[in-house]
Amino acid sequence: MQIRVEHLTKRYGDSLALQDVNLTVEDGELFFLLGPSGCGKTTLLRTIAGFETPSQGEIYLGGLPQKEIPPARRNAAMVFQGYALWPHLTVRENVSFGLEMKGISRKEREERVNRTLRELQILELAERKPNQLSGGQQQRVALARTLVIQPGVLLLDEPLANLDAKLRRDMRQEIRRICKENHLTGIYVTHDRAEALSMADRLAVLRKGTLEQVGTPREVYRRPRTPFVAEFIGETNLREATLREFRKDGALLDTPLGPLFSQCLPPDATVGMKLTLSLRPEAFRLLPPQDPPQENSFAVTLKRAEYLGEICQYEVLDATGSTLRFDQLNPGDDGLAPGQPLRLVLSPQDVVSMKP
Ligand code: ATP
Repeated sequence: MQIRVEHLTKRYGDSLALQDVNLTVEDGELFFLLGPSGCGKTTLLRTIAGFETPSQGEIYLGGLPQKEIPPARRNAAMVFQGYALWPHLTVRENVSFGLEMKGISRKEREERVNRTLRELQILELAERKPNQLSGGQQQRVALARTLVIQPGVLLLDEPLANLDAKLRRDMRQEIRRICKENHLTGIYVTHDRAEALSMADRLAVLRKGTLEQVGTPREVYRRPRTPFVAEFIGETNLREATLREFRKDGALLDTPLGPLFSQCLPPDATVGMKLTLSLRPEAFRLLPPQDPPQENSFAVTLKRAEYLGEICQYEVLDATGSTLRFDQLNPGDDGLAPGQPLRLVLSPQDVVSMKP
């Protein structure tokens, strides 16, 4: 079921939680909302669910305006961070509760509850109470309770926040599988960028109540449109630059690291324009010392190395004395010594330039 948000503004007194948000989440799509604390993620979810009233704008579910429709009658269900399971009811009773409220017959209730418990692999826990379950199992019950209602739209507010790191990783693909198999349209709020990048069809980065960028995980990570998005979605080095001249398939930029050729430019870039570069730590390659300097290479001095097995994280000083971070995957037998001069090189596609 398509979700459409049009010109949505939400005010709490003088403070603006959402400012003219426009967003369409397509039928069957799993969409993620990312952003720093207080940027409006939960408010957007709660407004779609009907728990908050828009100050301006309209929400459409399946093309129908929701203004007059109370939360209980919206074709949307929300899964909360704290699960909110009934402590005195068994797993089965917790999952069945919503169907009883909807007046579904006993026979159909039993069938649907059993099917959902089986799908979430918690059928064998059906007669337990929530306090006899692990965090991950409680999370599954919370999800089962929502899925059993077969909502058109699933709204997830940090559903994995209370789980340990391993369980979070295991649950990621499982939630995605369940959403896809049931053809659910979902909006998922998280602070965890790995969760968003690995699970989302598309995602939005919110900042102070506005959508700063919407795109696929790859688009947003590889082609951030603003320095804020570049830093929020991953590690990066930001540098100022000026566009010197256009060349075939890109432009030459003057930067503190020396001239760099970029194939990722803002659409309206012009000669002389001030830009901000985002250079991801994993985008640099180390040039062997005997190799001649090549395009997009520059000299640095090693400041600090942190060996982590599969990766080595370096801090180096560039020609201006600023610190630059770069990562080397699969570092070899010999470490590099602090103070050592090095040459790094970047592919033109990894020289990402944006308006400041
Ligand atoms: P977090 O990641 O910390 O959960 P969030 O991105 O979900 O944050 P919201 O909870 O949507 O942010 O809050 C957005 C803004 O609206 C914040 O400045 C918050 O203080 C404010 N806000 C939220 N709910 C209310 C309320 N009921 N009354 C007044 N202000 C509120």
